[in-house]
Amino acid sequence: MAKLQIHRIPARTDNYLWLAHEPDSGATTVVDPADAQPVIDKLEALGLKLTHILNTHHHGDHTGGNLELKEKYGCTVVGSAADAHRIPGIDVQVADGDTYDLGTERAQVFDVTGHTLGHIMYWFADSRALFCGDTLFAMGCGRLSEGTADQMWKALSKFRALPDDTQVYCAHEYTQTNARFALTIEPDNAALQARAAEVDRMRAEDIATVPSLLGEERATNPFLRAGEPELMAAIGMTGAAPVEVFAETRRRKDKF
Ligand code: ZN
Ligand code: FE
Repeated sequence: MAKLQIHRIPARTDNYLWLAHEPDSGATTVVDPADAQPVIDKLEALGLKLTHILNTHHHGDHTGGNLELKEKYGCTVVGSAADAHRIPGIDVQVADGDTYDLGTERAQVFDVTGHTLGHIMYWFADSRALFCGDTLFAMGCGRLSEGTADQMWKALSKFRALPDDTQVYCAHEYTQTNARFALTIEPDNAALQARAAEVDRMRAEDIATVPSLLGEERATNPFLRAGEPELMAAIGMTGAAPVEVFAETRRRKDKF
């Protein structure tokens, strides 16, 4: 049953850090602390003590708070074995197929190399919570800053295997721009039109659009949909290999 209590911590311009608390054991983790202070403020407001940091990848807006938080709380830093040399303060190295227990809640670790080499994500099946860093965004996906289109497409295939009711806790509020781009790819997608309008309404009221449901992403996210005949037809690539369609969609986004 959904046991993790998850809190959103906005940071920097558009980062979301996620605080996840497992009440039976008291285990409390932050996923991708860009900075320590907003995490400390949230922990104090909730009366919690940090026991873990889970990192998805090495970028500074995901690890910048690691050392200060570790110093203050003595928490355990968990990150990708392949990225260990770039994760400040790493204590536990995990890799694709591993599990990691946060109190009574178990995370499955997936390698999702693409945005960076060694990027991982954490899937808490019982809580239906997926912490995916900069791999999948609401209606978008991460830039290929280190990996290839082939690698990112393989990473995205791992999302497609998870259930529709998965809550996707990505690390940035990029949703509105992503929706505008997605509409250039699939202007006739009714689910996308409706979601884009809802996102415009939410952002006008300064409401966060993350997490989103994986089912909504399947219906509206052009990067997850690169293998769908409707999307291929919409960009004039009927019959092409899905990875080529993905690569073309990513190229268009880079220029958007
Ligand atoms: Zn990043
Ligand atoms: Fe980031």
